[in-house]
Amino acid sequence: PTEQVLSVQLVPFDSTRKLLLSRDITQLDRVQTVHRDFIANVSHELRTPLTVVGGFIETMIDIPDLDAATRSQQLQLMYEQTQRMQRLVEDLLTLSKLENGQQLREEEVDVPQLMRLLAAEAEGLSQGRHQIKIGSIAPARLIGNHDELHSAFGNLVSNAIRYTPAGGTITLHWRAEGEHGCFGVEDTGIGIAPEHIPRLTERFYRVDRGRSRATGGTGLGLAIVKHILQRHQAQMVIRSRLGEGSEFSVKFPAQRLLTD
Ligand code: ADP
Repeated sequence: PTEQVLSVQLVPFDSTRKLLLSRDITQLDRVQTVHRDFIANVSHELRTPLTVVGGFIETMIDIPDLDAATRSQQLQLMYEQTQRMQRLVEDLLTLSKLENGQQLREEEVDVPQLMRLLAAEAEGLSQGRHQIKIGSIAPARLIGNHDELHSAFGNLVSNAIRYTPAGGTITLHWRAEGEHGCFGVEDTGIGIAPEHIPRLTERFYRVDRGRSRATGGTGLGLAIVKHILQRHQAQMVIRSRLGEGSEFSVKFPAQRLLTD
């Protein structure tokens, strides 16, 4: 990054260069701030579960004859915290792989089959607390990476479940919109206030940290979704009404579609 600034300084001074230089530095500052914030966030996210686990281990060392019920309760809590750290590390690895920008491994993805898989997984996650519906599926094949698309759509579906109280409905659909194909997840959940919507795909941005954590969120899901969709030249649109529900829809360009 420092080199970038130096090389600009070598250019003879004129007013346009001066403008460029200040813009480069502003850009550089922003990148450095984002990087610093990211490291601070990761450290913070790991510190909390580590403190909890460390505390319980200390109790077990200090009180070796702890009664069985307390001991088993503490082991359960320790297990939950390690699961949380594991999810975070998995998401960080996924993000880092995506950011390395390896070329997309393309294949033909059978959309109706993927939708049925997502609905089955949603049933598993919801455990009967929500109604899971498949709205419409226009037959189509998508040129893209199956695992990445599965992960992006799966993240949207699991969010819909996590942010919808029991008794709500989650609807999945795939629509043809002119030349485009559109994947959508609609929920009747808590909704999102308009001011939060533009920031949701930022790493670790959450509307309600406590609720996200309590439902097993890492705060990285939508950042991962954004990367995957960019690699597929797809656009995500978020519509939401606070207290009524949200719809996340993803539009794929015509060149990624093969219609039967
Ligand atoms: P998290 O792990 O916290 O869910 P995400 O990146 O997946 O992280 O989402 C970021 C934030 O966006 C969430 O913390 C939540 O506040 C909000 N959000 C995402 N999906 C929904 C939804 N379907 N309904 C309401 N809020 C949502």
